Amino acid sequence: MEILLIFLLVLGVVVIHGPVSNWITTIYTQRQFKHFLSQETFYHSIISRYLKYYNRLNLEDQRKFLFRTYLFKKSKRFHYIDITESAEMPILVSAVSVQLTFGLDKYMLNYFKDIYVLQDDYHYGFYSRPFQGHVDHSGIYLSWDNFMKGVKGMTPNCNVGLHEMGHALAYVNFITQTEEDKHFKKEFKNFSKVARPIFNAMQEGQKNILGDYAGTNYHEFWAVSVEIFFENPIRLRHELPELYAAISKLLRQDPIVINTTKKMAA
Ligand SMILES: [Zn+2]
Repeated sequence: MEILLIFLLVLGVVVIHGPVSNWITTIYTQRQFKHFLSQETFYHSIISRYLKYYNRLNLEDQRKFLFRTYLFKKSKRFHYIDITESAEMPILVSAVSVQLTFGLDKYMLNYFKDIYVLQDDYHYGFYSRPFQGHVDHSGIYLSWDNFMKGVKGMTPNCNVGLHEMGHALAYVNFITQTEEDKHFKKEFKNFSKVARPIFNAMQEGQKNILGDYAGTNYHEFWAVSVEIFFENPIRLRHELPELYAAISKLLRQDPIVINTTKKMAA
C-alpha cells in the first residue's frame, strides 16, 4: 500500500511538474510585465534618447526590447565606484546588452549578478595600460565616460558596452557554461570557421577594419568584431563580407536591414 502511495506520489510529481512550473513561470512573467508597464514610458524616454538601434526597431520589437531591458536590469546589482549614480546608467547598460543578444533566446547573462560602473579609464591588476572596461568572474566592469562616447557614436568603431557584453556572452556560454544558448553555441563553430583564418592572418601582420587590438587574442577578436558589426556594419560587410554574414547568422540579426516598415506604417 505504502509502495503504491509512493509510486502515485512520484508519478504525480512527474506529471504535474511540467505544467505547474510552466504555470508558475507564466504567472511570474505576467506579474513582471504588469510592473514593467508602469515603467515602460520612462524606459522608452531614456533609451530612445540615446540608442539609434532601438529607434530603428518596429513598435512590437521596441516593446520586446524594453521588457528585456527591464528584466535584465532587475536581475543585476549595480555598483557605482567613485561616480554618482543616475537613473539612466543601469537602464542604458542593460539596453546595450539587450541590443547584442536581441536575436537570441538566452539574454540574461545570469552568471553575472554584479555590474560595476566607474567614471573613466582605470587600472586593473598588473596591466600597465588603462582599462575602459573588463569582464571577469566577479562581474562586468564599465567606465561610464567611455560607455557614453560609444553609445553616442563619438568614437568610430568603439563601443565599450557592446565590447564587454560580447566578452560576457562568450563567458556564460563557453567558460562557466551557465547559460548556454543552443543556437549561439552551435553557430559559434561556423563563425570560427570564417573568423579563425582572418584572426590568424592578423597575427601574421595583416591589417583590416578590425584594427590591431583585435589581433591580440581570439577573445579580443570576438569582442571587437561585435563592436564593429554594430558600429560600422556597412564597412565591415564591404571589407570582410564573410565575417559580417557569420556574425549576422550567429547573433540572428542584421544591423543594416533592421525592419522599420511596421514602425512607419503604425
Ligand atoms: Zn576586450
